[in-house]
Amino acid sequence: MEKILLKNIDNPNSAGINEYIKAGGYQGLSKALGLQPKDVLEEVKKSGLRGRGGAGFPVGMKWSFALADPKFPKYLICNADEGEPGTFKDRPILEKNPHLLIEGMVISGYTLGSEYGYIYLRGEYPLAKDILNRAINEAREKNYLGDNILGKGIKFHLVVYQGAGAYICGEETALIESIEGKKGQPRNKPPFPVNSGAWALPTIVNNVETLSNVPYIVTIGGEAYSKIGSKDCPGPKLFSVSGCVEKPGVYELPMGTSLKDIIFRHAGGIKGGKKLKAVIPGGISTPVLPADGIDCAMDFVAMPKAGSMLGSGAVIVMDESVCMVRVTYRALKFFEHESCGKCVPCREGTDWLRKILERIENGKGRDGDIELLSDVAANIAGKTFCPLGDGAAGVINGMLKHFRNEFEEHIKNAECIFS
Ligand code: SF4
Repeated sequence: MEKILLKNIDNPNSAGINEYIKAGGYQGLSKALGLQPKDVLEEVKKSGLRGRGGAGFPVGMKWSFALADPKFPKYLICNADEGEPGTFKDRPILEKNPHLLIEGMVISGYTLGSEYGYIYLRGEYPLAKDILNRAINEAREKNYLGDNILGKGIKFHLVVYQGAGAYICGEETALIESIEGKKGQPRNKPPFPVNSGAWALPTIVNNVETLSNVPYIVTIGGEAYSKIGSKDCPGPKLFSVSGCVEKPGVYELPMGTSLKDIIFRHAGGIKGGKKLKAVIPGGISTPVLPADGIDCAMDFVAMPKAGSMLGSGAVIVMDESVCMVRVTYRALKFFEHESCGKCVPCREGTDWLRKILERIENGKGRDGDIELLSDVAANIAGKTFCPLGDGAAGVINGMLKHFRNEFEEHIKNAECIFS
């Protein structure tokens, strides 16, 4: 498949506007401004594009909800707060192909009737901040941003807003709170941001990768785009592969590529010729799969049937030497630390889970600890304000489902059998 999202990134000057234009950039914008916004929306709907942040919601449908709301102004926010452990797929776009994102946002803003856009960037991406700001200035100078884009009287302004490093600000309503200058904690839903988001006005939040697909959809047409990748989830997909593989990195592949192919064909297989033990397929919040469960298509529809989720497409690979109790403990330390504290099941539950795992990991596990882990996880799942709690519970459930024996061995032997 030809590269769409990572096109031209091997060019050392790929982030500059001249190189981007030379490679065909901003043609999608020119074409879009010659169409009516409703026609651009129709192309996005036809494309079948689903949000790439993790939820996989159909983009055309989300945009329709916002368009149907007469309130003005409307805001377009790009969620560039990729803080999920294992996830670094948006980074090459932000650092090496920023004009693709800018072009996607201008087209999206035009379609949605939005004149103001934000890129909410994770605090840990200072390099991306400089690159994006330089790219925004270049786009403004060439009239791709501003009050009179390409002389068509279309207005769109864009700013980068850097978060302070909280994982929860990747959740769209916490992100909006943060942009408004408040503490980043999720809001009650409904109302949903498409009707009442930033400053209670219609706000569309889409991920970096999602918005970066828009120029190509407009350029080739929604129908042609829908033929790429899997039938239920068309388009290209970025997969960030990390852990025990020969070639970790970001791979652009058709949506629906098998997890097995991603690991063994593209990422070079297991490092040092060791045996595969387990894979977390979509970032730390997605349930683990054992080695014999990876013959599955990576898309939003197939992965739940395989017992996990596509999530952000962050593939974390673990070989036979990795201790699953330690992995679970590390994951729960993360969730406990990042829990925003707004709701009790998550705030207290993640703390309990971390404490139980810590004692098992340190050789002080007790009889009944495994049941206690399950019980606490059951009292978190489905009972929290936002998906962070479900993610923490899902890690426990997946690990106990496939690797319960390792927890039992830790408790019985009062030590780690892998150290
Ligand atoms: Fe905050 Fe956790 Fe509740 Fe989400 S689930 S609102 S992160 S306490």
